[in-house]
Amino acid sequence: MRRKLVAGNWKMHGTLQKNAVLLSRIAAEAPRLNCEVAVCPPYPYLGQAQLALAGSGVALGAQSVSEHASGAFTGEISAAMLLEFGCHYALVGHSERRALFGETDYVVAAKFEAAQMAGLVPVLCVGETLQEREAGSTISVITRQLSAVLERVGVQALAKAVVAYEPVWAIGTGVTASPAQAQDVHEAIRAQVAALDIGVASELRILYGGSVKPENAKQLFGQRDIDGGLIGGAALMADDFLTICLAAN
Ligand code: PEP
Repeated sequence: MRRKLVAGNWKMHGTLQKNAVLLSRIAAEAPRLNCEVAVCPPYPYLGQAQLALAGSGVALGAQSVSEHASGAFTGEISAAMLLEFGCHYALVGHSERRALFGETDYVVAAKFEAAQMAGLVPVLCVGETLQEREAGSTISVITRQLSAVLERVGVQALAKAVVAYEPVWAIGTGVTASPAQAQDVHEAIRAQVAALDIGVASELRILYGGSVKPENAKQLFGQRDIDGGLIGGAALMADDFLTICLAAN
């Protein structure tokens, strides 16, 4: 039985003061929630979030992670450092990292491996652009992105990982994939994994991300292969985020 997970990706938003309010609301409401909840604040706020969430059961995640363990990599953050600040999850391959920071499938697979080897649970983000969807290549793009990781680390690695399907055209646009569109891709992801290992596939949590809001969360999370959500904009507002978490109950 897959427990639903709702993770908030704060991106490059927040201040100490705003975070304190948001974190204390989430920590206070956590006992009412039946799903697993995680927040992914910007790196400098991980320490603040670690303290604010201590004992609440809400997990902490990072928005990215270096593929390197240590060394002369100015500006990078290693998986071991993230663990010291209480991180359990690390997003890898978010479309903004791929599009704006040149992360290739190869780099994403290396980050996945580095995160997992250190003891983090990678949340592998995959998704097609609008152009790719309109060209009819959604499934081949997702298959390629997932294959890059599978070829590097093997299917068993997915037993300790999460996948997030995030159509690029739905991220931050207010346009959401319909529940049926999302379900189709989630089913294809699970089938790709099942072709290698049915047990891993049936336990794999596949989150949907892309303009999830309180109004559409329940329908999305009600789909057979949707195991929760990766939430961007709506994760910055306590009421919206908590309503979305309740939709996963
Ligand atoms: C995201 O960036 O992971 C995301 C899903 O953003 P939004 O919910 O704002 O579309």
